[in-house]
Amino acid sequence: MTTAPSIVPSKAYRQIHMFPDAKRRRVRPVKRMHVVDAGSEYLRFQCARCNATRTYHGPHTITWAKRGIPCPTCNQNGCPQ
Ligand SMILES: [Zn+2]
Repeated sequence: MTTAPSIVPSKAYRQIHMFPDAKRRRVRPVKRMHVVDAGSEYLRFQCARCNATRTYHGPHTITWAKRGIPCPTCNQNGCPQ
């Protein structure tokens, strides 16, 4: 008569050992443009990768400005570098 193993491996352990070459899918990180110049009524963003600049006029918060805006070039076609 056989007995069940006392320790059951976890799901993550089994997946790693069943598919050792598989890589976990990850969300591609968003490339963002960051503030290089700020006035009372505008914000100028620049991308560190492709040097694209964008000027934003409108209401904003400091937190939103520090977070940056997604770069349209780098997020569409991949980083040029
Ligand atoms: Zn860019």
